[in-house]
Amino acid sequence: MEDMNLIFLGPPGAGKGTQAKLVADKCGIPQISTGDILRQAVKDVTPLGKEAQGYMERGDLVPDQVVIGIIEERLQQPDSQAGYILDGFPRTEVQANALAETLEQAGSAIDHVVNIEVGDDELIRRLAGRRTCKDCQEPYHVTFSPPNVQGVCDKCGGEIIQRKDDQEETVRTRLKVYREQTAPLIAYYEKRGLLRNVAGTGDIEEIFHSILGVVEGR
Ligand code: AMP
Repeated sequence: MEDMNLIFLGPPGAGKGTQAKLVADKCGIPQISTGDILRQAVKDVTPLGKEAQGYMERGDLVPDQVVIGIIEERLQQPDSQAGYILDGFPRTEVQANALAETLEQAGSAIDHVVNIEVGDDELIRRLAGRRTCKDCQEPYHVTFSPPNVQGVCDKCGGEIIQRKDDQEETVRTRLKVYREQTAPLIAYYEKRGLLRNVAGTGDIEEIFHSILGVVEGR
């Protein structure tokens, strides 16, 4: 599979990050997560991090121009030239239009928008139990995928925490923001013939195979 340019769309808790990582590894392309880039910037207390922190802690979106800038820079890196997965971007129509314009200028295009579908009750259940490694951001879940040793990351030995934006109040805001600002992108990409719906319930391996089937055109 060459030059596979993918977008992973879906509400918070749909499993975008988990699946994007699996597909990226399988296809040998980078997973570009605006959420991960922003969290790293917050952790490093960079100017970007300082600007983004308040929005993220409230569960609001970081301003479009900020994330568009991040993505434009990231897509110019050498490892993005043979394909990539955008995980968590675009999240608004303004971002989607900016991306389309950038790609058009570069003579490139998106191949598939994988829309991972999960119902609201399931999302809340998943998000409330979600935990993350403070150091390498590896995702865990208290019930569905706990680490071998409680509180310690299997991958890097780092401390496992609950992200501030996974706390209940913020989760509600994030779902509302998703519905109002991001869900309209489903129709946006459907209109452009790029939307591929995948059921996001079931086990991780099963969902992974459905996604591979879609992006490999099986
Ligand atoms: P995520 O890990 O993708 O859920 O992102 C965590 C937080 O980062 C979001 O709740 C937003 O505050 C911010 N963020 C990530 N991606 C974007 C984006 N494309 N546009 C605006 N804000 C974003």
